[in-house]
Amino acid sequence: MYQYMALPLSAVKGIGPSLEKRLHGRGIDCIGNLLLHLPLNYIDDRRVSPISLLREGESGRIEGRIISKEARGYGKDRQVWIRLADDHGQIRLNFFHAGFMMGDARLTEGRLISVRGVAERWQGQWQMTHPEWCVAEAFEPGYQPHYGALAGLSGKRIGTMIRQALLMLPATATSPLDHILMTQYRMPSLRQALLQLHQPHAADSDMLRHASSRLKSEEIILYLLLMRDKKRQADCPGILLASQRLSSELLEQLPFPLTDAQQSAWQDISADMTSGRRMHRLLQGDVGAGKTWVAALAMASVAGSGYQAALLAPTSVLASQHAITLRELLMPLGLDVALLTGSTRAAERRKILAALASGKISLVVGTHALLTDDVCFDHLALALVDEQHRFGVRQRWALAEKRKPDHQAVHLLAMTATPIPRTLALALYGDMDLSMMRGMPPGRKPIETRVISADKMRPLADGMQRMLDVDGRIYWIVPRIDEDDDGISVDQRVELLKGYFPAAGVLGLHGRMKASVKDEVLQAFASGACKILVSTTVVEVGVNVPEARLMIVEQAESYGLAQLHQLRGRVGRSSEQGYCMLIAGKQASQSSLGRLQQLVRSHDGLELAEADLAMRGSGDAIGTRQHGDAGFRLINLAGDGELIRQWYEHLPDFAADEAMLRFWRPFADSAD
Ligand code: ADP
Ligand code: MG
Repeated sequence: MYQYMALPLSAVKGIGPSLEKRLHGRGIDCIGNLLLHLPLNYIDDRRVSPISLLREGESGRIEGRIISKEARGYGKDRQVWIRLADDHGQIRLNFFHAGFMMGDARLTEGRLISVRGVAERWQGQWQMTHPEWCVAEAFEPGYQPHYGALAGLSGKRIGTMIRQALLMLPATATSPLDHILMTQYRMPSLRQALLQLHQPHAADSDMLRHASSRLKSEEIILYLLLMRDKKRQADCPGILLASQRLSSELLEQLPFPLTDAQQSAWQDISADMTSGRRMHRLLQGDVGAGKTWVAALAMASVAGSGYQAALLAPTSVLASQHAITLRELLMPLGLDVALLTGSTRAAERRKILAALASGKISLVVGTHALLTDDVCFDHLALALVDEQHRFGVRQRWALAEKRKPDHQAVHLLAMTATPIPRTLALALYGDMDLSMMRGMPPGRKPIETRVISADKMRPLADGMQRMLDVDGRIYWIVPRIDEDDDGISVDQRVELLKGYFPAAGVLGLHGRMKASVKDEVLQAFASGACKILVSTTVVEVGVNVPEARLMIVEQAESYGLAQLHQLRGRVGRSSEQGYCMLIAGKQASQSSLGRLQQLVRSHDGLELAEADLAMRGSGDAIGTRQHGDAGFRLINLAGDGELIRQWYEHLPDFAADEAMLRFWRPFADSAD
């Protein structure tokens, strides 16, 4: 089957080079990809209705003989009227801008044509405007799939291409999964499922659901198998940490006791690292749950045992933040933490690399800059990846692979604040063990959240002033206009806010700034030289400024609840009350306002993620970016959780072939 699925689009009748290029632009580069463009719904087109029995406002199929054809108007505005009659009635078909139809030989008087369109009454007569039509012999009664447009091509056009593409799958084509799924689960073959979905003989919803499950199963099972293989590969002897001296010392020096959740996560981790097996663990905890301390304990324990640890962060802002926090915690134990990012100067970088290679430095924090080949360790024992969903599967592993050939496997600890229900997480991150941290450090008050409208700038400014008066700091998140132009809206807001608050040292932060400038801005905000920080969602990830107590988000309705919750998690990081103002855009609909109200009520990231899932498909809960994590094509985490769980529990044993792997996981080896 997959050898046919992999055929280029140009093999399909009717797809030439320019169409092919257009579809390529949307990531559709082979027949199989086109076939995954499933119908949105189906039209019951089994019955031809007499014209006299049409129903006003409803779509109907009729058949009749052309009794007249005339054109009105001139040039491209030419309108064509075709009068059609069957045994019981007549109807007029209207086509605008359709002068070309006058010359169509299939539309001459006396010809029998078949038509589908919405019936209208006008001046006591039936008419249809721009109906679909074909010569009567060409009409095939049945259920017509209705496709969404794609790459600027109409759904109808796509449907024609899909019909042609299906012809390329010979009846003998099978998937490696067909046998198991057909015999043990009574599911159709992959080819049957595709045919049932694209060319159903009946609008039998059970049959359609079954076919769709069959198709999705193909994707899920393959994914789960890959995860299982990863897990098997990951399970091997690992470096055994002999000394808990420094981690115990750190435990005593922490300003507050660990929360129960931190305690139990730390127990999981230290048990792993003293087991002699390699750790491969995902630490999941809501924003602000205190994952950094747990990471610090693991790092202290590694350094205390005479090895090295490296922490990978997705942005330089976050990496430098981590370096600061970790230094505060670990310096008193006599440990230094190096920082390596894209903006580290060449001389400094050389020095750090030499110290890492010789073992003089035991702890390092950095961005992707840590992953390049020239970064070598004397004896790396632990790789930590923060906000792991920001990285592809391979990047996640890349750090752990920086070990010398004669050394044992490096422990991996990935951290994430992305809330996913546990059962689903087990399947999705099936290659890792899971530690979940529920709840928050004590003394944290829930962030008071309000939804306000865009014209309330005056009272909002008053509120901001009150916050500044008590030395609180403020985040202002600007709407994303365009990923590439996010500098513009930031600069505009900075100017506006400088006008209101000339003494607040307003600064802007966005993704296109140089890393070193970003870091400076963040330092200024952390130190208080800047009290209002205008930013795009760059700050979403992990940044920690305890004095920040007010979060303002413009056009809040354009974000997912989970993402807003993450943003909100940037404030209220101390015992002082934090606030979050969600400014709804002028165009915000009633239902999106209702959606935002959930943030006023709920402060549970998991609950909000589930609400997101329920409302808009996997959307932002797993996030558009984050979606790349599992990289599913058909699976929708909202609706398919049950199917995922089912296959996770009963994973069939079979060997995927190369072509199948390449089709479903073309990037499994790269950044995913
Ligand atoms: P996240 O899980 O989002 O990475 P952080 O590690 O940044 O969260 O922690 C958030 C804040 O909570 C930090 O300011 C940290 O100092 C504080 N914190 C962490 N653990 C505790 C604790 N056990 N008791 C009190 N405060 C804590
Ligand atoms: Mg964090």
